[in-house]
Amino acid sequence: MVKTSNDVLIPQELRDRSNLIAGEWVNARSGERFAVKSPVTGVVLAEVPKCAAPDVDAAVAAAKAAWPAYRAMPVYERAEVILRMAELIRERAETIAQVMSVEQGKPYEGEALPEVLETALNFQLAAEDVVRMETPIIPMRDPAKRVLTFREPYGVMAVITPWNFPTVIPSEYLGPGLAVGNTVVMKPASTTPLSMILTARCIQEALDEAGLPKGVFNLVTGPGAVVGDYLVAHPDVALVGFTGETVTGESICARAGIKMTLMELGGNGPQIVCADANLKEAAKAAAFGCFYNAGQVCCATERILVDAKVHDEFVKLLVEESKAYVLGDPFDASTTMGPLNNEPTAVKTEQHLDDARTKGADVILGGAREAGRPTDLYFPATVIDGVRRDMLLNLEETFGPVAPVIEFTTDEEAVEIANETGYGLQMAVFTSSIKRCFWYADQLRTGNVVFNDSTDYWEAHEPFGGGGGTRSGHGRLGGRYTLDDVTHLKTVAIDIEKTL
Ligand code: NDP
Repeated sequence: MVKTSNDVLIPQELRDRSNLIAGEWVNARSGERFAVKSPVTGVVLAEVPKCAAPDVDAAVAAAKAAWPAYRAMPVYERAEVILRMAELIRERAETIAQVMSVEQGKPYEGEALPEVLETALNFQLAAEDVVRMETPIIPMRDPAKRVLTFREPYGVMAVITPWNFPTVIPSEYLGPGLAVGNTVVMKPASTTPLSMILTARCIQEALDEAGLPKGVFNLVTGPGAVVGDYLVAHPDVALVGFTGETVTGESICARAGIKMTLMELGGNGPQIVCADANLKEAAKAAAFGCFYNAGQVCCATERILVDAKVHDEFVKLLVEESKAYVLGDPFDASTTMGPLNNEPTAVKTEQHLDDARTKGADVILGGAREAGRPTDLYFPATVIDGVRRDMLLNLEETFGPVAPVIEFTTDEEAVEIANETGYGLQMAVFTSSIKRCFWYADQLRTGNVVFNDSTDYWEAHEPFGGGGGTRSGHGRLGGRYTLDDVTHLKTVAIDIEKTL
């Protein structure tokens, strides 16, 4: 029985040969390793291979070699294999989630376990959707022609993912990517590779049970600037799926050149609270949006824009809701927020708060790391009022447990503030007017808008991604929409008069 993070047993398979290349569990060719340390306890959980270019070359070569046979497999048979992956992940959900909680920091019951179940769901949805992937037949001017379209996999797909959702984000690429017949080389984030390695065991077992060629799925660990950079530029990689920071995404696009890319980048989600909103609901949603996964979510509520007419009442409610977030060990039943995952995130949170304080904003709850904890990464729920548009809290993504309150006086001003940072991933608006809903839906420059729920609202199968022309990226993750992005359309024209 796991009562605290200290009780979590790290499975033996994470201790040695934890990379997957050509169907074999291996170490880095150099023998080098790096430590994965728990943000909860400070203890080193395991050492994983520190790969470099030769390991990536081997993984890409394996994926390339496996592709022709994997691609030729009938789609219904491939879908069965993907469903089996979902089943194995569900069977091992508790072990995977326990490891995730200690390596990432998120609460076990409320966040890690649901994440692993959503990971399985993403494989299941991809298997269900891929067999309904119909394509158009196009009427032509020439009566002798019949023109058909087919969705084709690209070939070797590179997948690079961040540490905030160690298995669900990979699954958003792997489910659809593998279901349509791409082969994959993936690189998980260096602070949270362990739960993904356990998930990779499920993927490989399903492939082995089906007798598929070695190398359909490969996983290498190592520094992004080395392994990730080399992988995306590799000439045998045809498609790149990346979730992470906007600056990393820009570097990857530059390195990937004309390859097809799916870029799920940063957000700066505002929650707009209109004067006609249900303020209690709005405060509850804002606290959730700011503190779920300690604010380390691409669609977190990074800014709360409040109509000046209801500011005082809203802030009172927000502070009450925020006090309910209990910081602690992810396995403690009372914990609703774990530590931050890593030092750079804690430092960035402090810098944004310092900038706001210096420019005159008021911290009214939390505001600094808590002393006396097993690590220096425990940052409490923080509410800061009087935030202005020139402050980093407004302009940049903070990615920490901070609720910054910014006042506005007209709907037009709220839209201007929401749109001015260039990010456009998910925004939320609280209002009781359906007319206002449609007006905001039209005006906000973003990929997703939520009305009367948190910026952190999503379901696995809805299309999710950056609004066109914003710093939040391009492509859609979620359900059948990703199937289009991981395939290209092949058009086949037949002249029936000249064909026997
Ligand atoms: P990073 O961009 O730092 O890292 C993401 C991944 O990229 C990691 O695996 C990292 O490896 C790797 N990487 C780093 N540098 C390079 C490089 N030069 N070339 C190739 N790969 C590289 O992001 P974070 O891990 O800090 O994740 C947080 C960010 O992710 C936030 O901005 C958040 O908004 C965004 N995000 C976006 C989502 C969306 O759907 N739009 C969803 C969730 C998060 P390593 O770990 O070894 O450094």
